[in-house]
Amino acid sequence: MTGYIAPLRLRLDGDALLSNWRWLARQGGAPACGAAIKADGYGLGAAGVMQLLKQAGCRDFFVSNWGEAAALEAQMDGVNFAVLHGVRDEDMAQALASRARPVLCTPGQVARWKAAGGGACDLMIDTGMNRLGLDWRADLGELAAGLEIVTLLSHLASADEDSELNPMQLARFRQVRAVVSAQRYSLANSAGICMGPDYGFDLTRPGIALYGGVPHRDAAGHLRQVVQPQAQILQRRSVIAGDTIGYNATHRAERDMEIAILNIGYADGYLRGFSGRGTALVDGVRLPVLGRVSMDLLAVDVGARPDVAESDWLTIDYALPAAAQASGLSQYELLTGLGKRFDRVWA
Ligand SMILES: *Cc1c(COP(=O)(O)O)cnc(C)c1O
Repeated sequence: MTGYIAPLRLRLDGDALLSNWRWLARQGGAPACGAAIKADGYGLGAAGVMQLLKQAGCRDFFVSNWGEAAALEAQMDGVNFAVLHGVRDEDMAQALASRARPVLCTPGQVARWKAAGGGACDLMIDTGMNRLGLDWRADLGELAAGLEIVTLLSHLASADEDSELNPMQLARFRQVRAVVSAQRYSLANSAGICMGPDYGFDLTRPGIALYGGVPHRDAAGHLRQVVQPQAQILQRRSVIAGDTIGYNATHRAERDMEIAILNIGYADGYLRGFSGRGTALVDGVRLPVLGRVSMDLLAVDVGARPDVAESDWLTIDYALPAAAQASGLSQYELLTGLGKRFDRVWA
């Protein structure tokens, strides 16, 4: 739909994205700082995120699957691009033709890649999360023999808290590093970067913190909000004391009120956890969400702002740590849930 202007948009702050990446690069204690751009760049739009970070000097990108890689193939010149879930049979033709590398995760994937003479690859070792990756206790020397490994990775399970698992995973990763030779080693995600240079190795892989999520208490104050959802007012109306607002009448007006109906709802990722708890903002004035969030609509109290009217735009308060607290969602869910109906506008 060319020329269509959606009634809801994400204002995306490119300076904030780059400032976050530079802070993470300094903090990580590694020569290189990459970017996890899976799940469409955590909901912001992977192509836009990749373009900005690439211009700023980022040379390592990570997505989950080959569908995501295909959409970014045209931007892969001069960078390392890794597909974290490795290669299934169904992926082989694309993987062999692509400039992206698979992060091999299972003995089956290793065998498949070797049999195809696939060339350069990455390798994921599970050091205690028991998610995806080759078990650190396996005979890794044998498994890795004959592979041309660019980056050997592992992933931290509890880097956002003080957990005995962190030093344990670090020690296991060092052990693996002594056995399996690769050009580079990479352990830390956003929270891992906050645990200091011991965790940095050759390459860090932040995701959430690039996009303004606060992964660890030590990062608070250093990361800037990147995403601001905004929605247009479709109707302004008066509500009389005793009236109820929205589905199931969960909000009853105690006094006469002025409300605005915004074009955003749970189908856009503004989930029902914000019902009666979220806030819209205009010039710093807080406008509380009233009643249930609908699929496509939201009611807010505009009594404090007689001037806002139909067709005006309001910003949704989406400051990630606080919005997570209010909604009961994680900062990751808040970002990756942002739907397809937003115009994504970089500034
Ligand atoms: C998603 C992911 C990252 C980024 O994690 P954040 O917590 O968002 O920083 C890094 N490495 C791997 C393997 C991942 O799956």
